Amino acid sequence: MKKINGTIIQYFEWYMDCKQNLWNQISENAEKLAQIGITAIWLPPAFKGMGGAYDVGYGAYDLYDLGEFDQKGTIKTKYGSKDEYLNCLQVLKQAGIESYADIVLDHKMGADMLQTIPATKVDWGNHNLEIANQETVRVGTKFKFPGRNRKYSDFEWNWTHFNGIDYNNNTEEHAIFKFKDKEWSSFVDEEYGNFDYLMGADIDFENPEVVEECKRWGKWYVELTDITGFRLDAVKHIPATFYRDWIQYLRRETGKELYTVGEYWTGDVNKLHNYITTTQGEISLFDVPLHYNFYSASKDENYDLAKIFEGTLIKENSAMAVTFVDNHDTQPKQALESFVEPWFKLCAYSLILLRKEGYPCVFYGDLYGIPYSGIEPIYKLEELIRLRKEKAYGNQNDYFDNNNFIGWTREGDEEHIKSGIAVVISKAGDGEKRMYIGEKFAGFTFIDAMENCEEEITIEENGWANFRVKGKSVSVWVKK
Ligand code: CA
Repeated sequence: MKKINGTIIQYFEWYMDCKQNLWNQISENAEKLAQIGITAIWLPPAFKGMGGAYDVGYGAYDLYDLGEFDQKGTIKTKYGSKDEYLNCLQVLKQAGIESYADIVLDHKMGADMLQTIPATKVDWGNHNLEIANQETVRVGTKFKFPGRNRKYSDFEWNWTHFNGIDYNNNTEEHAIFKFKDKEWSSFVDEEYGNFDYLMGADIDFENPEVVEECKRWGKWYVELTDITGFRLDAVKHIPATFYRDWIQYLRRETGKELYTVGEYWTGDVNKLHNYITTTQGEISLFDVPLHYNFYSASKDENYDLAKIFEGTLIKENSAMAVTFVDNHDTQPKQALESFVEPWFKLCAYSLILLRKEGYPCVFYGDLYGIPYSGIEPIYKLEELIRLRKEKAYGNQNDYFDNNNFIGWTREGDEEHIKSGIAVVISKAGDGEKRMYIGEKFAGFTFIDAMENCEEEITIEENGWANFRVKGKSVSVWVKK
């Protein structure tokens, strides 16, 4: 489900110090975001995590606590209160911006009580391999949510709703313990033999009570918040069949489109194809292979720019691809650290924002900086988002024919009077590319909106021109 010329922003980074006030900050910024061309926002997980006021949101504790109950030492979440969240979603709607909720269903953390049960230790490197006899373990699997006192739902979680956990309180041992009579789920990633288990108390989607509760919660969430779509966390650790059925159920029940993008973290595009097939095209995916291509291009002097789209989802199934440059997991000091080098950031963003294919997602940490890591905002990124909205329309002509210099043009269309661009990227020295942008621009003067090249270019009578670029940069040529 492609969104024509929309642009998503991921409105958080791992270390942001938002003082439990992010929802209000977004409300204040909504109009500005709409003006520059943002059409959708990926909000961080809105429910209470085990880390309370400091939980980024992935240590999911109580999915019904959106900053309403005194649990884990705080009423508000890291991002604010339930009322501030609901208000923020209405403000975004008024501004014409869609809102995508981050959904964390793989695991739970911060149990209210321990339970003593039989379990078997498995190997960290091969989760299918049992490495000890069954033993009695004491584990955090009982969730009663005393601070909420059964409001919205009286469902309580116990060990039968989980497959396994990575800590035995009896022996203080860190290991993966698979619970008695449980098997890891099918339809998950096959790394480590079976990658169902990721962290915390791993939810068992083979248990019908779990499936029912997740459906009930999802319907409650959509109806309460008026959210317009989802970003699904860690989908490779959850049966693809579960999420397929879950999203189909919610679309049917709520009558909403509920655009959905999943985080399937892999550099192997074939795994993404498999997931899309199993989920019957209901769930778009982040183009992780493209992120890794950007990372390699920014790091490796011998990288062949002409192959920047090789092995990516945007190339092989662009309608299902959400493209991005970096995110909260790839930023410095995070689990999947692979941060694209500063010199290549705008080049990468031009490749996701100014082309016809894909649904781009801009990272908060790139647009506004990451003070914790001393990372500055990317100068001119906001301008690129604007250029997408104003000018990136019409026929696309590609010139991906050189290791060090690539380029493309968009010829513009009649609907967007200012449209038409020519983009050139260099990963070596200064250079130029001869490209066709259309006879209708003959005789017109073009300038570099990135302000790297100061000279002007005049389009020739046949609609061609030599578009210049400085070393290790991108130039975006637009009509003066
Ligand atoms: Ca799992």
